[in-house]
Amino acid sequence: MTDCLFCRMVAGEIPADVVHETERTLAFRDINPQAPTHVLVIPKDHHATAGLLVGADPELLAEVVAAAHAVAVQEGLATESAPEPGYRLVFNSGPAAGQTVHHVHGHVLGGRDLGWPPG
Ligand code: AMP
Ligand code: ZN
Repeated sequence: MTDCLFCRMVAGEIPADVVHETERTLAFRDINPQAPTHVLVIPKDHHATAGLLVGADPELLAEVVAAAHAVAVQEGLATESAPEPGYRLVFNSGPAAGQTVHHVHGHVLGGRDLGWPPG
């Protein structure tokens, strides 16, 4: 039994609004959306941050990014080959970035003008 929220969602112990799944990744809607589309994409295996994941299993990080793009296409934010109208993929890493769940997750954000730089 793990106390990691996202591992428990992968295990089916906590409900998730799943929008995309592959053998090694899961994508579900954020419970507190910051944009019309706000989906979290995670590896099913536990790794704390993107920086740690890329060292441990770079192919899995590539699968997470591919899944994030597939979600964006599914949500009408991009096509297979072009980023129109566009979306943002964010990996918060560590306390200064506001990471609250220590299981790597990419935020797929879109559906409005996201602006830059972020606040
Ligand atoms: P971060 O601040 O990058 O660690 O993002 C964690 C995200 O997880 C936040 O955007 C939360 O709204 C989201 N979150 C927390 N609990 C849940 C949950 N049970 N289902 C879906 N999203 C969640
Ligand atoms: Zn975990």
